[in-house]
Amino acid sequence: MLNFRNINVLFTTLALLFVLAQVLLGVPFYAYIVLAAVYLLLLFYGCYYVGSNFFIPVICSAQTNKKVVSLSFDDGPAAGNTLRILQILKDSNAEAAFFCIGRHVIKNQAIFKQVYDEGHLIGNHTFSHHFWFDMFSPKKMLADMRMMDKEVSNIIGKTPKLFRPPYGVTNPSLKKAIVRGNYTPVGWSMRSMDTVIKDEKRLLNKVISKIKPGAVFLFHDTSDATVSVLPAIINHIQANGYAIVRLDKMLNLQAYA
Ligand SMILES: [Zn+2]
Repeated sequence: MLNFRNINVLFTTLALLFVLAQVLLGVPFYAYIVLAAVYLLLLFYGCYYVGSNFFIPVICSAQTNKKVVSLSFDDGPAAGNTLRILQILKDSNAEAAFFCIGRHVIKNQAIFKQVYDEGHLIGNHTFSHHFWFDMFSPKKMLADMRMMDKEVSNIIGKTPKLFRPPYGVTNPSLKKAIVRGNYTPVGWSMRSMDTVIKDEKRLLNKVISKIKPGAVFLFHDTSDATVSVLPAIINHIQANGYAIVRLDKMLNLQAYA
């Protein structure tokens, strides 16, 4: 299996073989550069592809043949858009997951409470969602994640167990923070790219082309395009015989600690 531990064992062995080959046969110096470049490429893949399971297993979809999918919204609550999303979900009788940011919860406490009260799942997406979060030490990461838990707990009286890594980036420090904090890391199987794609038709087509059993869709409360096309996405999902199931229920995970 392609993971951090196996890659380290493999590349350490290869490096030793290169040294041996150099002594016996004279391996050119650039062979080491190629070896290091391949190693770094694999690390890059492991860090930036949330479904790689490279540093830590991250649950990204349900293994099922049933026609079920889950919708998830990151980075909220966002004044305006989150309320519009809630109304669309209510009109469609659909439950979703909201991986919120703590500092946005503080600014939008009433909206946050409404998300929970209307039956949606609350997940931890850090307090700061800091640009350099991935560079934090495990201790600093965990403090940030727990600060988010505290905000949630103050408002709804429950502590999230599901954690979604900012930017979908995982690394050895985050693995330590997740294990120490006893979180369940959750990713997605379909990234809508709704923070980048502004063309609504393109966004809609991209999303509906990826509907399949057990899929987890990633959207953002902050995207106006998502709010615009969400009714059409939900219509398409339901018209194709799929049920929209809350993430923790579809993945059979404990939602709160
Ligand atoms: Zn995010």
